[in-house]
Amino acid sequence: MTTPPTHARAVIIGGGVSGCSVAYHLAKLGWRDIVLLERKQLTCGTTWHAAGLIGQLRASINMTRLAKYSADLYVKLEAETGVATGMRQCGSITVALTEERKEEIYRQASLARAFDVDVQEIGPDDVLKMYPHLNISDVKAAVHLPLDGQCDPANIAMALAKGARQNGAKIIERVKVTAVNTAGGKVTGVNWEQGEEAGTIEADIVVNCGGMWGRDLAAQSGVTLPLHACEHFYIVTEAIENLPRLPVLRVPDECAYYKEDAGKMLLGAFEPVAKPWGMNGISEDFCFDQLPEDFDHFEPILEQAVNRLPLLATAGIHTFFNGPESFTPDDSYYLGEAPEVSGYWVAAGYNSIGIVSSGGAGFALAQWINDGEPPFDLWDVDIRRAQPFQKNRHYLRERVSETLGLLYADHFPYRQKATARGVRRSPIHEHLKARGAVFGEMAGWERANWFADEGQERDYRYSWKRQNWFENQAREHTAVREAVGLFDMTSFGKIRVEGRDALPFLQRLCANDMDVAPGRIVYTQMLNARGGIECDLTVTRLSDTAFLLIVPGFTLQRDLAWLRRHLGDEFVVITDVTAAESVLCVMGPNARSLLQAVSPDDFSNEAHPFGMAREIEIGMGLARAHRVTYVGELGWELYVSSDQAAHVFETLAEAGSDHGLKLCGLHTLDSCRIEKGFRHFGHDITDEDHVLEAGLGFAVKTGKGDFIGRDAVLAKREAGLSRRLVQFQLKNPEPLMFHNEVVVRDGQIVSIITSGNYGHHLGSAIGLGYVPSAGESAADVLASSYEIEIAGERHAAIASLKPLYDPGALRVRM
Ligand SMILES: Cc1cc2nc3c(=O)[nH]c(=O)nc-3n(C[C@H](O)[C@H](O)[C@H](O)COP(=O)(O)OP(=O)(O)OC[C@H]3O[C@@H](n4cnc5c(N)ncnc54)[C@H](O)[C@@H]3O)c2cc1C
Repeated sequence: MTTPPTHARAVIIGGGVSGCSVAYHLAKLGWRDIVLLERKQLTCGTTWHAAGLIGQLRASINMTRLAKYSADLYVKLEAETGVATGMRQCGSITVALTEERKEEIYRQASLARAFDVDVQEIGPDDVLKMYPHLNISDVKAAVHLPLDGQCDPANIAMALAKGARQNGAKIIERVKVTAVNTAGGKVTGVNWEQGEEAGTIEADIVVNCGGMWGRDLAAQSGVTLPLHACEHFYIVTEAIENLPRLPVLRVPDECAYYKEDAGKMLLGAFEPVAKPWGMNGISEDFCFDQLPEDFDHFEPILEQAVNRLPLLATAGIHTFFNGPESFTPDDSYYLGEAPEVSGYWVAAGYNSIGIVSSGGAGFALAQWINDGEPPFDLWDVDIRRAQPFQKNRHYLRERVSETLGLLYADHFPYRQKATARGVRRSPIHEHLKARGAVFGEMAGWERANWFADEGQERDYRYSWKRQNWFENQAREHTAVREAVGLFDMTSFGKIRVEGRDALPFLQRLCANDMDVAPGRIVYTQMLNARGGIECDLTVTRLSDTAFLLIVPGFTLQRDLAWLRRHLGDEFVVITDVTAAESVLCVMGPNARSLLQAVSPDDFSNEAHPFGMAREIEIGMGLARAHRVTYVGELGWELYVSSDQAAHVFETLAEAGSDHGLKLCGLHTLDSCRIEKGFRHFGHDITDEDHVLEAGLGFAVKTGKGDFIGRDAVLAKREAGLSRRLVQFQLKNPEPLMFHNEVVVRDGQIVSIITSGNYGHHLGSAIGLGYVPSAGESAADVLASSYEIEIAGERHAAIASLKPLYDPGALRVRM
C-alpha cells in the first residue's frame, strides 16, 4: 500500500475518467506533486461500464470544441501510453425520423462544420449503404461524422492515468478522502482514510472528480454541486453471425443508440422518464457494482429497436446492464472553481457523456487552474451557474428523472423543463398567471415568457419554425414600440456593495467610471486581465458609500464570486439583496403618461433624465424608479420592496388601459433588445470576448485610473480589433435565427450567430455575431456580402455595426 504524501500542489479526488483526465492534463502542463486519490479502484464508479461512444456533435461551439479535443486525444493516447484504448474511428450516423429532427441535426452539422468537424448531411439510401440492416422506411435524413468513434472507456481512463504517472503524478488507490479542509474561505488540504490508517495532505488546490459521490462531498465544505444519480441501461446481444463492422448509430427519435462491438450489438437507451437512484446514499462498498435489471422499464425502447433493426428479434440477449450515472438539473456538467471556497475545483456531473467530455474537460480545467482563467468561454458548464437551492435532493430527484431523456429529446429553441418547477416565484406570479402568463424557468425562477390570449392554449408548441406564441410576441413587441409594455424582471440579481471603500473597490473592478453623483446609473462591464467581459451590469450609486449592482439573474452567483474574490483589504460589505425587491419595467413611448397617472412625481426629462434613479410615490406605496432600458424605448425600471410589489402592479394594471399597456414576456424583451443590438451576457459577450471587439468601448473609461483589464484595453486600442460584433438582419422575412447559425462572409464561413430573435418591428430575423476583421476598418467589414447558413441553407443578410433600430437613440431619450 502506498501512503499518501503530507503535501501536494493539487489533490484530485476520484479515479474515474474525469479525475484521470485532470491529472493527465495538469501533469502535461508540468505540474509536479499532484496526487489522485481513489477510494477503491480506478474506474470502479461509473467509468468502467460506459458504452464508449465518442460523438463530436454538440449543441454549442465550445462544447463541440471540447468533444473534438477528446476524440483527437483518444486517437493518440494508445501510442503515447502503450495502453490499448480500443479507440476506433468507425464513424457515426444520427438519423432523423421527423422533419423537426432533420432541422435540428442539419443545424448541428452546420455548426460543427464551422468548427472544422468532418460532417456530411446524407440521405436514407446512404444510411442503408453504411448500415445495411437498418429499417429506413421512415428515415427523413441523417448526418454522418466519419471521425466519430467508440472506445473502451475503462482503458481510456487507465491510459490517461498512465500518461499522468509518466509525467510525475501520483495515483493512489484505496484511499478515501473523508473531508476537504478549508480555512478563511480557502482550501487547505484533505483528510484521508486507508483502512485503519488516516492522515492529512496539505494542498492549496483540490479537484472534486467524485462523480455521483461528488455532491455530498462538496456539501461538507459548503460547496453547491447539484447532481443526482439515475439508473442508465443498455443491453448487449449474443454474437450475431456475419455482422459487419458498423458505425455507431443514434436514433434519438426512438431514444436509442446502437454500437457494434466484436460481432455483438449494444443497444442503449435515453428514455423520457428515468429512474433516479441513490436517494438513501451510496453504499460504502460500491465498487464495480451493477444495479438490478428492469426489463419492463427497457421494453418500450427494445420494441422500437426491433422494428428499426429487425436482426435484434432473433439475437439472444447476453447482458442486461444497469449502472448509475450522475445527472444535473440542466444536463450540462460542472467545471471550474466553486464560488464558495477558493481552491476548490470541480469536474463532475457528466450526464452520460463523461467519456467523450472528459478529455476536453480535463484539458480545459487544467488550463484554467494553471492560468487562473479558462482557455475560452466555458459558461455552458461553469460551476458558478449552479444555484444554492439546487442542492435540495427532492428537487434534484424530480429534475433528473427528466434530464436523462433530454439528451435525445428534440432540442427545440425555448424548450422548458417540465419537472421540478415553481421553486422561485415573483410576488406577482399569481397576478401574471391569472392574466395568461406562460412561464419559463431560469435559475429556478418562474418568469412570464409570453402571454396567451383569452381562450388560447397556455402551453408551448415547440418547433424550429414559428412556435405557437409567435403572434403573441409580435403584439407584445408592437405594444412596446408603439404604446407601453410591462415586464416583471424580479429575477434580476441585485447586489449591494457598501462601506467606506465601496467606491475605490468598484473603480478597480468596473471599466466605467463609478465616481458619479448619488442617483446616477452607470452601465458597465467588469473585465478580466485579457479585457474579456466577466460581468455586464448597471451600477446605481445610492449614496456616497452604497451602490446597487443589477446583474442578470442567471449570472448572480458568478458575479458575487467575482466581487468577493477580488475583495482585498478594502472595507466593503457585499450583500445579495435579490429577494428584497421586485422589478417592474414600464417600457414604451407611453411609459411617461402611464407613470404620471399613478404617481404625483414629475417624469419629464428635466425632472428625471435618462440614467438617473430616484424614489417615487406610486399608488399608495413607494418605488425607486431607474430610467434605463433594455428594449430601446423610453421607460423606467421600478424597484419595489417585495411586500409592495403586488400593490404597485395592481395600480399600474388598473391605470394601464388608458395608455395601451400590455403585459409582456421575456421573449419580447429579447426580440426588442436584439433589434436595438443590445448585448446579452453568456451569448454575445463572455469572458473570452474583448470589450472593445464587443463594441462596448463607449462604457470603458481608461482615463479614470487603473482597473482590471485596463492594460488589455489600451493594448487592443494600439493593436486594432481582430474581430467585431456585427448585427445581421435576414432579407427574407421567413427563416428564424436563435443562436449558433453560421455566418458566411463573401462565401466563406467565418463565425456563428451568438444570439438571435425575430425583429417584429424591423420585419425579419435579427442576430449578432463576430466577424474577424484584423487589419480592416469598419467600412471594410461592411463592404462584404453576408449570408447566414441555417440548417444547410444560406440566406442573404444585411450587416450593421450601428443598431438597426433607432441608431440615434432618440426614442430612449424622448
Ligand atoms: C450505462 C452507461 C453508459 C454510458 N455510456 C457512455 C458513452 O457511451 N459515452 C460517454 O461519453 N459516456 C457514457 N457514460 C457516462 C460515463 O460513464 C460517465 O459520465 C463517466 O464515467 C463519469 O466519470 P467520472 O469520473 O465523473 O465518475 P466515476 O467514474 O464514477 O468516478 C468517480 C470516482 O470517484 C471516486 N470517489 C468518490 N468519492 C471519493 C472519495 N471521497 N475519495 C476518493 N475517491 C472517491 C469513486 O470511487 C469513483 O471511482 C455512460 C454511463 C452509463 C451508466
